Amino acid sequence: MSPKFKHIVVPKEGEKISVKNKKLVVPDHPIIPVIEGDGIGRDIMKATRRVVDAAVDKAFGGKRKIAWMDIYAGENAQKLYGELLPKETLDAIKQYVVALKGPLTTPIGGGFRSLNVTLRQVLNLYACVRPVRYFDGVPAPVKHPENMNVVIYRENTEDVYAGIEWAKGTKEVKQVIDFLNKKFKLSIRSDSGIGIKPISVTGTKRLVRKAIQYAIDKNRKSVTLVHKGNIMKYTEGAFRDWGYKLAITEFRDKVVTEDEVNKQYGGQIPAGKIVINDRIADSMFQQILTRTGDYEVLATPNLNGDYLSDACAAQVGGLGMAPGANIGDFVGLFEATHGTAPKYADKDMINPGSLILSAVMMLDYMGWGEAGKLIENGIEQTIKDKTVTYDLERQMDGATKVSTSQFATNIINNMR
Ligand code: NAP
Repeated sequence: MSPKFKHIVVPKEGEKISVKNKKLVVPDHPIIPVIEGDGIGRDIMKATRRVVDAAVDKAFGGKRKIAWMDIYAGENAQKLYGELLPKETLDAIKQYVVALKGPLTTPIGGGFRSLNVTLRQVLNLYACVRPVRYFDGVPAPVKHPENMNVVIYRENTEDVYAGIEWAKGTKEVKQVIDFLNKKFKLSIRSDSGIGIKPISVTGTKRLVRKAIQYAIDKNRKSVTLVHKGNIMKYTEGAFRDWGYKLAITEFRDKVVTEDEVNKQYGGQIPAGKIVINDRIADSMFQQILTRTGDYEVLATPNLNGDYLSDACAAQVGGLGMAPGANIGDFVGLFEATHGTAPKYADKDMINPGSLILSAVMMLDYMGWGEAGKLIENGIEQTIKDKTVTYDLERQMDGATKVSTSQFATNIINNMR
């Protein structure tokens, strides 16, 4: 047991990932903290670790290996520490930089609003990143799900998620309503609840910067700012304006705005440039259905991104295969996007795809993309073979239902 931690055992054979000159330095045996998660977390984390270990081994011929380090949150933390989110769990993620997480039950009433939201806020993981792509053969509700290949960068700390709200009838809400009505001559009804929607230059810039940098690194063609600025001018409209300003100020030689393309380049995108455009949120929901292939990277305030990422995931077959990550300046917490689905816990039947694909994002973040690619190929082939977990099997003609662990084994066997 490490002298520094009470319950976390630091693996002897591994080393820390560090940050030097604003870059991650990943040793060949990096220590990666893991929160197993509640409910089905136990099933999908086991499967995911096995798949990742096999992919890393195959991709790097045994030279590299992850040293997994269990850390605790949720039910197992409650048993060990008597609290749901111990400080040493947060410290471990900060110190070891990259971590993997299963789903956690949100306690109902009292204490935390949500363990997940708390983790993001305490660790300042300001970008929620959700790539959405189609896997051939997954049942989807649209005619051409294969046209979808977007990455959503959702601001993770501000907007109506900042948690600033007052319930109808409280002393606080009365004070707020009285102040606003008197000071600004408004007529807010006294039987209202009130929520505050802060959107800052700081929060917007760091999010949009990450989205554009991703587009540059991955050779993506456009970054779309998704906002409702026609109605909420000084929050969502400002998000759009600050986003464009940042693009021009910090990435001038790499980007061109849609307006410039139309006015200065006769509608032709100059070679090698990334187009920065913007769409009003309601229109974006139509566009992603009707002109799916036109969109590549989306940068959004918190609430728009929340709705949009689930809608995009539904378009390609649902949450079972939708990965996610919460990323700050360097710390990255990679996690399944679904919850703990308690009725399926410990039954070895749930789809581990979302967590496995989140681990693929993690490998990519670490610069171990070769291993991630092997996993993606393994998943593609396994779905083509129609040997899938219950959720996919019930929607696919002629499919064979397999357990969580068998699905993982099939992915491993299909890695090429
Ligand atoms: P949920 O756990 O996501 O499950 C809802 C339904 O989604 C399941 O019954 C199942 O549908 C389907 N599903 C979820 N994961 C799946 C998977 N891996 N493969 C296939 N199908 C899957 O949502 P919930 O029941 O509303 O929430 C349960 C708990 O999880 C709550 O405490 C909630 O707060 C928490 N939660 C945590 C996170 C997180 O940690 N990031 C996120 C969301 C919710 P079928 O029964 O139709 O097959």
